[in-house]
Amino acid sequence: MTRHTLVMASFLLETHVMGAGPTGCMVALALAQQNQRVVLFDPQAFDALTSRSRAYAITHSSRRLMQSLGLWDELQKDLVAFEQLDLRDLAAGRQVIFVAEDLAKKNRGHRGIGWILDHRPLMTVLLRKLQQSGLVEMHLGGEAAPIPSPDSLVIAADGPSSPTRKSWGIHCWQHRYRQGCLTAKVVLRGIQANQACELFRPEGPLAVLPLGNDHFQVVWSAPMERCQERCALAPSEFLDQLAGILPQGIDPDLLLDQPKAFPQQWMLAHRLSRGRGVLIGEAGHRCHPVGGQGLNLCWRDVDVLVRSVQKGGSAKRIAARYGRQRWIDLILVGSATDLLVRCFSNRISLLVGLRRIALQLLKHSVGLRQLSLRAMTDGPLQIGRALPD
Ligand SMILES: Cc1cc2nc3c(=O)[nH]c(=O)nc-3n(C[C@H](O)[C@H](O)[C@H](O)COP(=O)(O)OP(=O)(O)OC[C@H]3O[C@@H](n4cnc5c(N)ncnc54)[C@H](O)[C@@H]3O)c2cc1C
Repeated sequence: MTRHTLVMASFLLETHVMGAGPTGCMVALALAQQNQRVVLFDPQAFDALTSRSRAYAITHSSRRLMQSLGLWDELQKDLVAFEQLDLRDLAAGRQVIFVAEDLAKKNRGHRGIGWILDHRPLMTVLLRKLQQSGLVEMHLGGEAAPIPSPDSLVIAADGPSSPTRKSWGIHCWQHRYRQGCLTAKVVLRGIQANQACELFRPEGPLAVLPLGNDHFQVVWSAPMERCQERCALAPSEFLDQLAGILPQGIDPDLLLDQPKAFPQQWMLAHRLSRGRGVLIGEAGHRCHPVGGQGLNLCWRDVDVLVRSVQKGGSAKRIAARYGRQRWIDLILVGSATDLLVRCFSNRISLLVGLRRIALQLLKHSVGLRQLSLRAMTDGPLQIGRALPD
């Protein structure tokens, strides 16, 4: 099939995207750029969609997707690069520092090991671009959307409790962690503005993500009741508790938002497509936030779905092809994050000993650091493959 007929064939496909979170907006934009007509529906209005207080760790696989959609330059001033990732296991007393040289060669020219991007600028730019597109029909704030025609591709991007997934009768495998996590934005002293940290503690991992200048987001995992108790503390007490667990020399000065607690689960839908419908983003899977993989995994769904649309065929064929192609990445990343949380959130002496050996090896082997960073930032399926530019 020539390029021309491919574009003509794909132009005839109408897509309905249920959910305008970061995954739904990204897929709507990517499809509109492929000349698809897109109907996008979300019960939340523009202001609610942009107002979540969260920052995302962006990896190189997401950087490539953002670049291909023209989002990278537009969001440049909001992307905070981190050039060092400081990984510590406090119970095992080991530390490994990842630097840009540990990245694959093709990723090194981009300054960061990864980036932190706040929800608000991301969603504002995405929603504005969608509003400006002549191919996207938006129905936000619960405004009724037209019923999809029998030939259209229906994309469920309506989040972890996905009403669309339930209406299609798709069940999930899931495991609810005893651990929850809380997120809070704070001012920190004694840490570089280009440094991110992942601290493994017996009660759960703590991520410290740079937001620019001396502002940081903490993602603090612990048993859910403890997260809720900490969220209810007065700001000074909260900062005291945080000071007690941060490595020596790093001190919290100010709390910038109200800490919020979230339950954590590993979840994977039994199937990712049904008829002409597909599940993408957290409608189809969820993993623990350790390693900041969540949104990046959702955006790799977008990449694979758009490639499936480009290959052509009926909505049913596109959906089935996507469903088959996403399994391995989702299972590998979900299992890796689950294993990390289980092995590192304890003081069991056998495991502490094994962690000591593993981290010592990682510290002294560039090859191992490159391998683990490649899996985290490009996805495990890219190991051993030539990376695109
Ligand atoms: C505490 C915490 C920290 C995290 N940190 C990171 C991180 O550092 N890096 C990272 O990559 N990821 C992180 N994640 C994961 C990340 O937040 C999710 O992966 C991301 O929000 C998933 O986006 P989504 O669009 O799939 O779902 P959502 O963001 O949940 O969006 C779903 C949308 O669907 C809409 N909707 C609901 N019902 C319907 C309906 N019936 N019809 C249509 N629309 C509907 C909702 O209004 C919403 O807008 C974190 C998650 C948590 C909980």
